[in-house]
Amino acid sequence: MLNILLYQIKQSHEKPLSGNCYRGGNAGLSLASLLLIKDPNLKIGIIEPSEKHYYQPAWTLVGGGVFDIKKTERSEGDYIPKKATWIKEHADKFEPENNAIITKEGQKYSYDYLVVCPGIQLNWNAIKGLSESLGKNGVCSNYSFKTAPYTFECIKNFKGGNAIFHNPDTPVKCGGAPHKIMYMAADYFRKHGILDKANIQYWSGGTKLFAVDKYEKTLMKVVKRGNIKLNFFVRLEEIDSTNKKAKFVGFGESNKGEVTWVDYDFMHVTPPQSAPDFIKNSPLANAAGWVDVNKHTLQHIKYPNIFSLGDASGLPTSKTGAAIRKQTPTVAENLIALLHNKPMTASYMGYTSCPLITGYGKLVLAEFDYNNKPMETFPFDQSKERWSMYQLKREVLPRMYWGAILRGKMQG
Ligand SMILES: Cc1cc2nc3c(=O)[nH]c(=O)nc-3n(C[C@H](O)[C@H](O)[C@H](O)COP(=O)(O)OP(=O)(O)OC[C@H]3O[C@@H](n4cnc5c(N)ncnc54)[C@H](O)[C@@H]3O)c2cc1C
Repeated sequence: MLNILLYQIKQSHEKPLSGNCYRGGNAGLSLASLLLIKDPNLKIGIIEPSEKHYYQPAWTLVGGGVFDIKKTERSEGDYIPKKATWIKEHADKFEPENNAIITKEGQKYSYDYLVVCPGIQLNWNAIKGLSESLGKNGVCSNYSFKTAPYTFECIKNFKGGNAIFHNPDTPVKCGGAPHKIMYMAADYFRKHGILDKANIQYWSGGTKLFAVDKYEKTLMKVVKRGNIKLNFFVRLEEIDSTNKKAKFVGFGESNKGEVTWVDYDFMHVTPPQSAPDFIKNSPLANAAGWVDVNKHTLQHIKYPNIFSLGDASGLPTSKTGAAIRKQTPTVAENLIALLHNKPMTASYMGYTSCPLITGYGKLVLAEFDYNNKPMETFPFDQSKERWSMYQLKREVLPRMYWGAILRGKMQG
């Protein structure tokens, strides 16, 4: 879902749409539901081609063998707010000058307000040999519904050797997911007495393990516990699945251009990611391709009747569902203020969260703002590994997501 269209009944080629229109992902459904709670008279249209909706945060748990993949998928139709109009099409082009949007299916929709939230694009083809080797011969990824279960197959069948975990040099959704699965694997190997036969390596395009020092300190102890080797400033360029080798190229000051071919027995790959191409190529994009919005009001820098939130937005914070929980009420309040010709007063401070699984039954709940300053919910030191926080991730958050967040009942 992706566009909010306050629609005037127009016949001709321009199809009447709805007041507001979004996409059917985490951000879009949460916002559409919240807006209809705030003002049931709003006319909302949802442009969303997918018949399925996914609770993606649980894919890490699926990869660790402790969550059923089937429970992460539900029918989109069950979460489209009753009063909204669902348009099963693909948004494709924007005409912000004309307050219009065109779909791949050739329909043109006009709007008074637009909220853009199509999520992030996974660029599997950016790595030579990845698409054809994914899901077999030891190459796995939690970043898709289809391949997350295979990750646990790889962990379960691992008998020793090189276990490689990869993080790209691009922004990704859930910056913790590329290494959370590594801590689960190390813990699994330890519990099954094969940790001493495992050579666990992290190959990351990042500059450090985690942005916030307070939480990174704990993660470094987990790294030590798993005897994990860390490599930074490297890019995965190629996978030779026949010989089970991966090619990494250095891009840091000390390793620029350095080529390393690494043998793997299994390898978890996080695909390079970007804004969707149709956003990148649109007048809405900033220099990096993300939707160009004000980081506090979430209003578009150039087009005042356009907002954006979620993974596709150019907000300088970690791209998570948790961030959307705080972004949604900001957009709702500011949009409704504009609808009533009032000044926008809601301001988003960059809150985001990463539930860092560090083992089976262990989790560090990282919560922080734009300045990487901890912004914690609970009255205890959240940098400690806790069983209670692991249960929050595995048992409570999925229920909150389906039962409250997508229904617009749990924002802020
Ligand atoms: C493995 C993994 C682990 C994660 N772990 C966590 C976690 O622990 N905590 C956390 O907070 N977050 C986590 N996340 C991140 C979280 O899932 C995302 O940040 C969140 O789903 C982003 O929401 P969104 O609405 O921006 O995009 P999405 O939820 O991805 O929705 C985008 C929607 O747009 C639709 N769409 C795409 N293109 C078009 C088009 N052209 N026209 C119309 N519709 C279109 C799609 O069909 C989709 O429904 C994780 C993600 C992954 C993959």
